[in-house]
Amino acid sequence: MLLKCAAVLGSPSPFAHRVVFGWCVSSCEPWASGQGFCALCTNLYRLSGLLDMEGALTARDRVGIQDFVLLDETTEAAFLSNLKKRFSNDLIYTYIGTLIVSVNPYKEIDMYNKKQMEIYMGVNFFELPPHIFALADNAYHTMLTEFNNHFILISGESGAGKTEASKKILQYYAVSCPSTTLLNTVRDKMLMSNPVLEAFGNAKTLKNDNSSRFGKYMDIQFDSQGDAVGGHILNYLLEKSRVVHQNHGERNFHIFYQLVEGGSDDLLRQLGLERNCQQYNYLTQGECAIVSSINDRNDWKTVKNALQVIDIDEDSINYLFGIVASVLHLGNVQFDSDSKGQALLNNNHELSWLLGVDAHTLQEGLTFRKIEAKTDQVLSPFTTDHAIYARDALAKAIYGKTFTWLVNRINESMENKVRIRLMWNEKQISHYSHHFILYSKDPSRKTVIGLLDIYGFEVFYVNSFEQFCINYCNEKLQQLFIQLTLKSEQEEYEAEDIEWESVHFFNNKIICDLVEEKHRGIIAILDEECLRPGDATDLTFLERLEEKMGNHPHFVTHKLADKMTRKTLERGDFRLLHYAGEVTYCVVGKKRKNKQSQPKTCFSSVDPDSRRRPETVATQFKSSLLKLTEILMAKEAWYIRCLKSNESKLPGQFDEALIRHQVKYLGLMEHLRVRRAGFAYRRKYEVFLKRYKPLCPATWPHWMGMPADGVEVLVQHLGYMPDEYKMGRTKIFIRHPRTLYATEDAFEKC
Ligand code: ADP
Ligand code: MG
Repeated sequence: MLLKCAAVLGSPSPFAHRVVFGWCVSSCEPWASGQGFCALCTNLYRLSGLLDMEGALTARDRVGIQDFVLLDETTEAAFLSNLKKRFSNDLIYTYIGTLIVSVNPYKEIDMYNKKQMEIYMGVNFFELPPHIFALADNAYHTMLTEFNNHFILISGESGAGKTEASKKILQYYAVSCPSTTLLNTVRDKMLMSNPVLEAFGNAKTLKNDNSSRFGKYMDIQFDSQGDAVGGHILNYLLEKSRVVHQNHGERNFHIFYQLVEGGSDDLLRQLGLERNCQQYNYLTQGECAIVSSINDRNDWKTVKNALQVIDIDEDSINYLFGIVASVLHLGNVQFDSDSKGQALLNNNHELSWLLGVDAHTLQEGLTFRKIEAKTDQVLSPFTTDHAIYARDALAKAIYGKTFTWLVNRINESMENKVRIRLMWNEKQISHYSHHFILYSKDPSRKTVIGLLDIYGFEVFYVNSFEQFCINYCNEKLQQLFIQLTLKSEQEEYEAEDIEWESVHFFNNKIICDLVEEKHRGIIAILDEECLRPGDATDLTFLERLEEKMGNHPHFVTHKLADKMTRKTLERGDFRLLHYAGEVTYCVVGKKRKNKQSQPKTCFSSVDPDSRRRPETVATQFKSSLLKLTEILMAKEAWYIRCLKSNESKLPGQFDEALIRHQVKYLGLMEHLRVRRAGFAYRRKYEVFLKRYKPLCPATWPHWMGMPADGVEVLVQHLGYMPDEYKMGRTKIFIRHPRTLYATEDAFEKC
């Protein structure tokens, strides 16, 4: 097709030595002919690892194929075998059309350096080995061409490589987008927001030594000429319970250890801290304060530097660490019980280190409940259990507010304040110049590329409210993926009257509904129980669930289970059959965590109308996910599906069973079938014609007839074969991207 296209245009082949789907489409088709090949191909193949040092071609059988769409068979076995071949050659990325499947190598592979970035700049998707840079560049390229908004959805379970991918994409944009000195500062701030948010929002878990315990959606804003001019972050539900409790083998948020290990002697003295993590209750519950894979001292330096880059002034930085230290001191506050069982502070030494708070008021707040009658206030004493609960609630609330403050500060600093434009370098002008002639009429218009990196699906030995929220979030993202790919894809063929054989897929909407449905879902019932005065307990919550969900196919409890399943379920648990697997949730504490439990007086300025019925945590989370879905649905989507290669975090280990499971639940086989049977590219006739009409004398400069007729004339002039495209009601559908790329190349030449 490419050669034919060149011939049609009557130019010498501009496509010689081009690699499409891993094949050179010029005369050197090494796999097929076994002949030698050109220098360009040699370089490209070497880069992709397809050549050994002597330049002899390794067998295609050994390295696998770059795009699953081109596999001979679409069986799961063939899919896994291809993935494995590539993984064992350090080729961790493979395409399904424009979707990237990534397998975590758990080792550094030299493929993200600046030189690599330059290779991918402005190059069509399939011309180089699969890479997240190719996807990032194509999203950017399309945004400039069509002047619309995009997002990159990075999904996969905890430890699969989502955060690493999102960081690399951000770095790619930082290097590849046009730059000016002024814009560089915005760019640095965007890059430096990462180490700061990771220090405060990531922690070591059993699944991942740097696990994100909050969800993050970051918009990178570009001006009409493609400069990255600003950024904005939305954060989702930080796992605050980690501040006061960590399971065995897990840590608190990194920043605590970084401060204790890396803070200067002076700073620690000012904050009343000792350089010993073992001294702090909040740091030692997981019994792994110090781990070899994490260098807290170095990370501390990075964070300190990053805080300055994002313009947080010295005073605020001091307050920030003061708060971090306060949380540690608070964790060491202990209570004794007097003869009546009332809580007494063990010693008030720690309280004196709590920033800006009157020690007496705090002591009272931790050991008494204030009951407000009409005109009076009555103090009712806490038991030690209650006092510990109040202490922990305060610590979590302080930390949570601080995290939100930090995200706000980062947003302020990344705000798009830059208006001055300077020139690009020549290479960039030649890459993108034609887009501006056509599209950038209004220089003040902005478009965005959103990067979504949210906590992955997780199953622990004990799963509680946090896992429930995290897994619900993943359920929603899977639903979004299904809606945007499988479902809408098939619906579009129907709507456009394109002949189509339907592909069956599991639609997880049934599980989303189970969790979130109004009045009937698990969250609604949890809320009712939380807000119901009187005798509601965690167990009455479970009973209500059993009543309402009794025969739902994705919900099981001890009472509802069959004999075999019952053996695996405790009485206080319920199990959800998620799209990604079964998870058993322990209801103990769910009710409590769902309430906005924080001493009200501390945040009176935040919550002026305390009599208003507060929204529960799960409901807030549900609304924020709903909003996120709306934000994403309005944009064009790109997908990176990350797979975890093994549970032990070891390099080079390809755990076939584990990967098969992920391939299955992520719906990758179905996606592949839809892709193979379908059309990689489609555009409204108007848009297609507007862009490519210069390629045909009959359509240039004006086509007076119907756009669909113009497109037909245009593609026939370009030599499209009948099986390469289909005309729908409102859009043209093109089977392979390479057909379009040939057209795009011709466009650039003309
Ligand atoms: P997730 O965000 O999906 O939970 P991360 O992105 O934090 O997972 O990855 C977990 C760990 O896996 C990282 O800390 C790193 O050690 C390793 N890792 C992930 N992606 C890559 C990659 N592309 N190359 C090398 N190591 C990686
Ligand atoms: Mg992560």
